[in-house]
Amino acid sequence: MNRYERNIQLLGLEAQKKISKAKVLVAGAGGLGSTVIVNLASLGIGTLGIIDKDIIEPSNFNRQYIHLPENIGKSKSKSAFEWVKSYNPDISVKFFNINLDKNNYKKISEEFDIIIDCFDSYKSKFLLNYIAIQTNKVLVHGGVSGFCGQVVTVIPHKTACLRCLLPEADENENINQGIVSPVVSTIASLQSMEVLKLIIGQGDVLTNQILTFNALKTEFRKITFERNKNCPVCG
Ligand SMILES: [Zn+2]
Repeated sequence: MNRYERNIQLLGLEAQKKISKAKVLVAGAGGLGSTVIVNLASLGIGTLGIIDKDIIEPSNFNRQYIHLPENIGKSKSKSAFEWVKSYNPDISVKFFNINLDKNNYKKISEEFDIIIDCFDSYKSKFLLNYIAIQTNKVLVHGGVSGFCGQVVTVIPHKTACLRCLLPEADENENINQGIVSPVVSTIASLQSMEVLKLIIGQGDVLTNQILTFNALKTEFRKITFERNKNCPVCG
């Protein structure tokens, strides 16, 4: 257990055992996914799933640091899988080189307890919210646009979902493509911390509240919101 000695000094052995039994699905192996995967592999999460259909492109390297330039044109999910295998062989890791959709989500999500939203479009984020509610899996949402980002945790049928928070959001709207690594890695680290708290049952998670981050102003805010009884997804 030397690898986790510093985790155990802070969290305790029982918490480390819980971490080693946790099953987490990382949806997206891009900017958010890179930092989330590094954090979860470092913590020693027992079972990791990584889903992404994209291939590695040169424009990814300003933030997606688990992928190597020699793998341009190859699958991101497989590249992330290989990174985890080489960094922490203790972890049982699986990759899914597919687009998640309403036909395949049940089979994929049934193996996991927590889903982390590291996708990069509103459409895929709202699909993931729908999947989390349908399958009763905890969702840790993160999103970045420009210099700003946000984090929300959803406990299905207990706390507000992403659609409760953004009832009017247009799923087909595009997210700003400009992005820098410090902003995206900050949001991804906050998501990773939500996952850790959920697993070990310590601290407070961001349910019924959204944490917003403005990197230019170095400003964090927490805004509370309620579950919508008439929500089309969780109501
Ligand atoms: Zn809802």
